[in-house]
Formats: sequence, C-alpha cells, structure tokens
Amino acid sequence: MTSTQVGIDLGGTAAKSGRVTHAGEILAERTIDPGFARGPQAVLDTLAQLFHDLGGGDSLGIGVPGLIDRERGYVHSSPNLPGFVELDVKGELARRVGLPREQVHVENDANAAAVGELWLGAGRGERDALVVTLGTGIGGGLILGGELFAGAGMGGEVGHVVIDPRGPQCGCGKLGCVEAYASATAAKRRALAAQLPADKPGDLVLLAQRARDGHEPEARLMREIGRDLGRGLGPVLCLLDLRTFIFGGGFSGALDVLEPGIREGIEERSYGGRAPAVKLLRATLGPAAGWIGAARVAMTAREALRSRS
Ligand SMILES: [Zn+2]
Repeated sequence: MTSTQVGIDLGGTAAKSGRVTHAGEILAERTIDPGFARGPQAVLDTLAQLFHDLGGGDSLGIGVPGLIDRERGYVHSSPNLPGFVELDVKGELARRVGLPREQVHVENDANAAAVGELWLGAGRGERDALVVTLGTGIGGGLILGGELFAGAGMGGEVGHVVIDPRGPQCGCGKLGCVEAYASATAAKRRALAAQLPADKPGDLVLLAQRARDGHEPEARLMREIGRDLGRGLGPVLCLLDLRTFIFGGGFSGALDVLEPGIREGIEERSYGGRAPAVKLLRATLGPAAGWIGAARVAMTAREALRSRS
C-alpha cells in the first residue's frame, strides 16, 4: 500500500488541509475554521478530528506562523494563533491522532509553502530557490540542493532584510525592512499616500490592473514597490547566487507589473550583471501550498527516519 500523509496549514481563521500520496496525488482536501475562540486544547481536538476526517495518514505535518522550535515541535508564540504559547503541538497532536511523536512534524508556515511549491508547484525540478510570500507581511522559505534550509531555525526570512535603516517601522520592531516597503500592507499604505484608492478589498488588484494598462501614477508606484522588493533580493543573490525566485501570497498577482522594478532593485544591490538571468516565477499552488508542503515535510522526515533504522 502506498503511504499517505496529511498536511495542515494552520492560520488564525482557517485551517487548510489535505491528504496526499508519496507520488503527489491529492486524495482529499478540506478547509475548516479551527475555532480559536474555544481555546488551544479545543483547536488541537478539532485538528485531530480533521486528520481522521481526511482519512488519516502515515504521518502528519503542520505549518504554523510564529516562533517555533522545529526540532521539538513546540510553538513558542504566534501572534496569529491565540493561546498557542509554549505549546507542545507535536506531542499534543501525536497523542490525539495516535501516531508516534516522530511521525508528526511542525514547520514554519512560509517554509512549508516553499517546500510545497518546489514539490508540486512552480518550482518543480528546481534545486535552489527562494519562495517569497507577499501577503500582510513578507515570508520567505529557502530551498538549497532540493532541501529546506532554515539555518538555526529562522533562515529564509527575506522580509526582514533591511534596505534602508532610516526607513519605516516594520512589524518586527526594526526600521526599513523590505516587508515595510513591499508587503500587501505596505503597498496599500504607499498607494494611499499617493492618493490612490487602496483601503477596500480588491483595490490592490484594480491598482495592478491600471498599472498593467499603462496608467500613471499606478505604473510608477508598482515599479517603485518592485524596486524595493528587488533591493531585498539583491543581497540574497550576492550570498547564494540564486537564480530562481517564486512569489506567492495575495499580492503576487501583481508580479508582472512589479517585475521591471524587481530587476532594477536586484541590479542595484548585486554585482556581476545577473539580474536579467534571474527567473521570477509566480507560485501555482495558491493557498494549498502550505498544507501540501507540510505533508511533504512530514513525508521527508519519515523517510529519513526509516533509512536510519
Ligand atoms: Zn522586519
């Protein structure tokens, strides 16, 4: 029998999940409200029920936002998940679903999305890539040699590369991170400052469309935002000589109008004239990238364990 894994991408208002085979065939998919109002223990009960409703699996991977200890499967804190503080998510879920502890894996959500895109999405066949999530903030997941690289745990966080130390305040507390210039939140702020409508849902999409149609000042704004994003990617190129960048998240729909600026920013902040050779790809899995990647992480960890024993 072929092995199957369950992946869950846990957010504050939705848990996206699914069951997938070793070969990448998706057998089931489900999105539920994790019910954070009822407290963390009830959320864990709901997730265990979700695992069973999907048909169960040989392993379980879960992607969570926030500060985590990947080795131990602990969530230290997560601004988006109320009550998930110093919580042994790995142990609590393993006990509830009836799997050995080592068959449950906790991963950062941006890392999980990166693994998903490299496995079944835009990065299929790539060995080295940075997956950049352009949403409320900017997340990043780095894949090197076909494997997730997180360093001591927080690697790949390209959103917090400082591009101007006198710049605007970032959510992390520092000044001038690329996230403070080029996330969807920052794009809205910049559009409003330029007296463009950006406070209603869908306004950013309209803004990108106007830029696409050649209207000013929308085209100029998108180019400037793209350039600031590229300024964050330039140092990545200097350090790793990466040639593939994959963009996911709600604001990645504007990639085509951001692209000229991104290349300018990369050119400005790296050497050797490599900007034209860089591939800028749009993620293809959409909101499913996180759970697919979490399942893949669990699958890979399980195989590594089996090959050792
Ligand atoms: Zn920051």
